[in-house]
Amino acid sequence: MFACVAIAASMFDAASAPRASAAPAGGCGSSDAAVHEVAAGDTWFEIASDAGVAMRDLLAANDAEASDAIHPGDELCLPEGANAPTGGAAAACGTTSATYTVASGDSWFVIARRVSTTLADLLDANGSTARTVLQPGDRLCLPKGSVLAVNVNTVVPLAALPVQGPCWYGNTWQAPRGGGRRHEGVDLIVTPGNYVYAVADGVLSRRAWDQPGSLSGNAWWLTTADGTYFFYAHLSDFAPGLQTGTRVRAGQIIGFVGSTGNSATPHLHFEIHPFGGEPINPYPTVRAAGGCKRGAGYEQPGGWIPET
Ligand SMILES: [Zn+2]
Repeated sequence: MFACVAIAASMFDAASAPRASAAPAGGCGSSDAAVHEVAAGDTWFEIASDAGVAMRDLLAANDAEASDAIHPGDELCLPEGANAPTGGAAAACGTTSATYTVASGDSWFVIARRVSTTLADLLDANGSTARTVLQPGDRLCLPKGSVLAVNVNTVVPLAALPVQGPCWYGNTWQAPRGGGRRHEGVDLIVTPGNYVYAVADGVLSRRAWDQPGSLSGNAWWLTTADGTYFFYAHLSDFAPGLQTGTRVRAGQIIGFVGSTGNSATPHLHFEIHPFGGEPINPYPTVRAAGGCKRGAGYEQPGGWIPET
């Protein structure tokens, strides 16, 4: 019997994990009901569209509401009449093969380079050609010998969004920057002075003050219990009373959006370093957490509404 909405192993402890969606404990109704495993960036709407069913039917099949959060690895029941899963490239990999979840903006070439394999081997492992269209959320098999030190498209569950919306952002992972550097974060374009929030419970482990020649400007490093840290740059100012070593809660205001350091326009530069290692692309994480919310959709992943 399938337990629907099995929550994927979280990189965070239960205390800081977003609430799980309510799902029937008894499985998907019939033993042969189709199941969809949630991929990075999936939304209720997109899953329903892909399956060719109404969103209300998908929600009903999972005893869920549209506001319930879904997370990569969750298993959802598909209602009767759902299409067979598509995703042409997502062939069944051998049980020992590593897989890779396609993110927005990925291409066959970019993925091959990222995992240190050849384009030909990557295509071969997936029975695909370079013309096979990749969709965000598709799962690819990685050929033997691939090196995936860090899955840059890992989604880290956030208990709060990093900024007070409205905001605007795009996928600029690895975009060229001055001095031969590559962009290792996501830039959230926000009205200056808007709040910057702790995205998880943790400790403000390091602070940088703006000074001439500074790249980051005013910046915080927020470190969680497993060593994961989040880097927030270009703040106009820090929230009062905070210092290096201060313990903060998810959703707590830690600063204000600005344009200090190497910044041309008010924005928050936000990075994620799982377990204290190399950065991952934070774009899928921010997107999965709800992106730039405003108005009635202002509810945060943790269920609270920011003060305005
Ligand atoms: Zn940036």
